[in-house]
Amino acid sequence: MPRPVHLLPAGHRWQPVAGVTLLGDAAHLMAPAGEGANLAMLDGAELAQKLAAQPGDMAAPLLAYETALFARSGAAAAQSERILRLCFDDDAPHSLVRFFTGMRDAGPAPEV
Ligand SMILES: Cc1cc2nc3c(=O)[nH]c(=O)nc-3n(C[C@H](O)[C@H](O)[C@H](O)COP(=O)(O)OP(=O)(O)OC[C@H]3O[C@@H](n4cnc5c(N)ncnc54)[C@H](O)[C@@H]3O)c2cc1C
Repeated sequence: MPRPVHLLPAGHRWQPVAGVTLLGDAAHLMAPAGEGANLAMLDGAELAQKLAAQPGDMAAPLLAYETALFARSGAAAAQSERILRLCFDDDAPHSLVRFFTGMRDAGPAPEV
């Protein structure tokens, strides 16, 4: 059954709004690439951490949260757009198979 793929453009951002922010897919909806739930959980944890570190102040924690959010979600969205293109380009599915084979051959991801 065909399913639509919805996404926000990579690099999507917004101007700060007092007392309001977004997280998870609401902030950075992207084509499935194995990152969305991870990012949503990280967003929630970082937002909570920043708010707890500065009780009584909402503006500074939200600004710090959004600055980090835009950087990491922009990078993940660019990667997800790349994978989406591999799924549908003229050489698909071979291009996607090469992508995953390349990841396997590169070995385990380095420790962060
Ligand atoms: C096919 C597919 C495969 C994926 N695979 C992966 C994967 O392998 N790894 C990974 O990390 N991520 C994956 N994702 C992405 C991941 O599912 C999402 O990024 C993640 O669920 C986002 O979490 P969220 O809490 O922001 O939003 P959601 O999980 O969408 O939660 C939003 C909630 O709000 C509710 N809601 C909406 N409107 C209202 C309203 N008006 N009032 C009250 N409630 C409302 C919805 O019902 C929903 O329960 C995949 C996504 C898809 C579509």
